[in-house]
Amino acid sequence: MTAIATLGSHCALQVLKGAKDEGLKTILVCERKRERLYRRFSFIDELILVDSFTEILEQKHQSILEQNNAVLIPHGTLIAQMSSEQIESIKTPIFGNKWILRWESDRTMKEKLMREAKLPVPKPVLHSKDIDKLVIVKRQGAAGGKGYFLAANQEDYNKKREQLISQGIISKEETLYIQEYAAGVLAYLQFFYSPLKEELEFFGADQRHESDIEGLARIPSEQQLKNTKVPSFNVIGNSPIVLRESLLDEVYTMGENFVEASKRIVSPGMNGPFCIEGVYDENAKFTSFEFSARIVAGTNIYMDGSPYYSLLFNEPMSMGKRIAREIKTAKETNQLDKITT
Ligand code: AMP
Repeated sequence: MTAIATLGSHCALQVLKGAKDEGLKTILVCERKRERLYRRFSFIDELILVDSFTEILEQKHQSILEQNNAVLIPHGTLIAQMSSEQIESIKTPIFGNKWILRWESDRTMKEKLMREAKLPVPKPVLHSKDIDKLVIVKRQGAAGGKGYFLAANQEDYNKKREQLISQGIISKEETLYIQEYAAGVLAYLQFFYSPLKEELEFFGADQRHESDIEGLARIPSEQQLKNTKVPSFNVIGNSPIVLRESLLDEVYTMGENFVEASKRIVSPGMNGPFCIEGVYDENAKFTSFEFSARIVAGTNIYMDGSPYYSLLFNEPMSMGKRIAREIKTAKETNQLDKITT
């Protein structure tokens, strides 16, 4: 029997619930401090308790996963808490393409892949002295928007950077990535590419709620101006958005271009769930500032199925269940190597 394993955070609940619904065994790698939370859910069959997630690299934990024929589902926490080298060294088969996760973590590689996929990306600003319009300054990896800041010019950049360093939020050595700020309606486009069916599915879209930038927008400008704290973009939660139907064709095209570019650049390509993140401007033109090469937490809003998946499946289908379905089909047809790395 195949088991599904994941780290206890991010989207673990929907991943394991989906796996259980598909009749698979479920294993959660769980930090001791979260044990009480996850014990509340009866669809989790087994807990591997750790003090830190990097412990899953240890042989004893790898052996448990191996004995269970486990497939590990990667998500944002894996990327945030482990280096690319550590992720690549995991012996347990990883759903999707573990090699592409490095392209998500490294800003320069990320931009290269996005350009290869012909995604309209915001202009990068190579040096703070070149800032001549509003920019957003980002950290490497899946930082979840923590420590990001906006700057209008070099002086503004230096002031805010120093403030964040003195608060211990970013480090002095950290290479920050600067790109033009794109204004518009946020849309995080969630996809699933099935290498078994060789088909792209559009699952849904979500918006992120980020603190404290969102809180700042709720107070009058007079108070905003008096605020001296550098507002961050720390994700607190997500909510659904449905797009104008006339935008869907382009959404599929962007997803397909991304899948094709990934196949060319980082074999075996973008298999499984992924997300293209950006904004629509006043002309409904999309600018994409980010991708995630694995399931995003924004899919948690559709645990009972998404509007777009209800058009494709005649049953409630979460992203977690879709992953489990792919694994089950691959197992039954002896193609697990096609969907894991
Ligand atoms: P990221 O880590 O790139 O997903 O960025 C975190 C958050 O920062 C996003 O959810 C957006 O709210 C915001 N953001 C990032 N890049 C841009 C951009 N170029 N223009 C506008 N907002 C951005």
